[in-house]
Amino acid sequence: MLYVAPERLVSPKFLQFLHHTPISLFAIDEAHCVSQWGHDFRPEYQQLGLLVDQFPDVPRIALTATADAATRADIQYYLGLTDARVFVASFDRPNIDYQVIEKNSGKKQLLQFIQKQMSGQNGIVYCLSRKRVEDIAAFLREQGLDAIPYHAGLSWAERSANQRRFTQDDGVIVVATVAFGMGIDKPDVRFVAHLDMPASIEHFYQESGRAGRDGLPAVSWLCYGLNDWVLLRDRIMASEKDEAQKHIDLQKLDAMLAFCETTSCRRSMLLHYFGENSGVCGHCDNCVSPPDRFDGTVLVQKLLSCVYRVGQRFGIAYVIDVLRGRDSDWVKRFGHEQLSTFGVGASVSAKDWRTVVRQSVVAGYLTIEPASQTLRLAPAARAVLKGETQVWLRPFRRSSGVLAGKMQAAWLRTEREERLWQALRQWRKQRASDTNVPAYTIFADRTLQDLVQNPPHNAADLSSIYGLGESKIRHFGHDILTICQEWAA
Ligand code: ZN
Repeated sequence: MLYVAPERLVSPKFLQFLHHTPISLFAIDEAHCVSQWGHDFRPEYQQLGLLVDQFPDVPRIALTATADAATRADIQYYLGLTDARVFVASFDRPNIDYQVIEKNSGKKQLLQFIQKQMSGQNGIVYCLSRKRVEDIAAFLREQGLDAIPYHAGLSWAERSANQRRFTQDDGVIVVATVAFGMGIDKPDVRFVAHLDMPASIEHFYQESGRAGRDGLPAVSWLCYGLNDWVLLRDRIMASEKDEAQKHIDLQKLDAMLAFCETTSCRRSMLLHYFGENSGVCGHCDNCVSPPDRFDGTVLVQKLLSCVYRVGQRFGIAYVIDVLRGRDSDWVKRFGHEQLSTFGVGASVSAKDWRTVVRQSVVAGYLTIEPASQTLRLAPAARAVLKGETQVWLRPFRRSSGVLAGKMQAAWLRTEREERLWQALRQWRKQRASDTNVPAYTIFADRTLQDLVQNPPHNAADLSSIYGLGESKIRHFGHDILTICQEWAA
């Protein structure tokens, strides 16, 4: 098996080498990179089309885990696979529950979320920058959690040590930039938390998909704010990509924000994005507690009108100052304390105004100029200002605790059961570190779950437990029975 980067493959010398080598198959992995609609476009992938002419008799397959319909069409086109059969598996991950909340304190919200999970769970926390990774990892450690950082700025030795701890130990939370996770296949990650908004739904899907690979319940939690969106927009605009590509990246970012803002089922929205239709899932946050909405037409009218009256030349903070009637030096300098919209929104906090701005952007009434952050009216604003469109907004303070208690893994029915679960996990952790192997290779979470639900009374009961074959019973049966009997007593 020979691994090769596309740049290398298309070099004349390498092609010459290939022509003198018997090849049975070309497998093009991460094939979404061939498409500028994909989330990691790499132009050199498109040159792989030359395989068609140069090796007409060698079969080719293209593989990807995340590709929407446009990307799939590009894969077929550029890789010369137009007549090939297409196998599309479902994007659904039914054991992952999706929860999205608006960011206010970020850190504290993350801590609350983690504390709501059962103690000692494996988890991944994604942040947008290295500095934030260090900061959050230190914060979680201060709170007594076993958290370790991972980002490209750490030394190779630190990174491999931390990665090793995460794959082998139990109850470790890794705080990471998106650099972490490639090639990691840990089955019992119970939660993936995004402390900042990802740049696209594809990124979100790929990263959150690292939770619950063993099929047991897992949570994808995402905390987002308007600042994330502004920061990511800046990154796109400052990148060296061409204008067309930037435009696509901006669209993907907006789709991500719309996913955060949606008031309908998150899972069906995700699936729809990848071209699958599904009904509502019944267990994402929006299904469990449907968000209220209120008629925010007047608020949005005030906002749009204020943006218009300051000449569509100012950013969010300034427009909010005018709405709230803050006569700052800046406001006075431009004489905006004379405007009819000055102070019309004084009863709404600055924070709440930001959510109105965000929702107005998502709904397409406002745009934010990427470089200057200037707010401008979009064409759809006209109908709102004329009173022809009613605008529904999410309520300002949406409790982040709506799912409190509920997430205590639904299958654990009593505190007593949780004691057995924790005792078994503690034992597993000890065994794993004694023998220096990952905890899940001792027993999968599913085995522990089965033991809690059907505690064995004697050796004969053990053989009906999920994942307990002869060899496991020989090695661990005695320990397990002792733990269960002590617990029962
Ligand atoms: Zn749902």
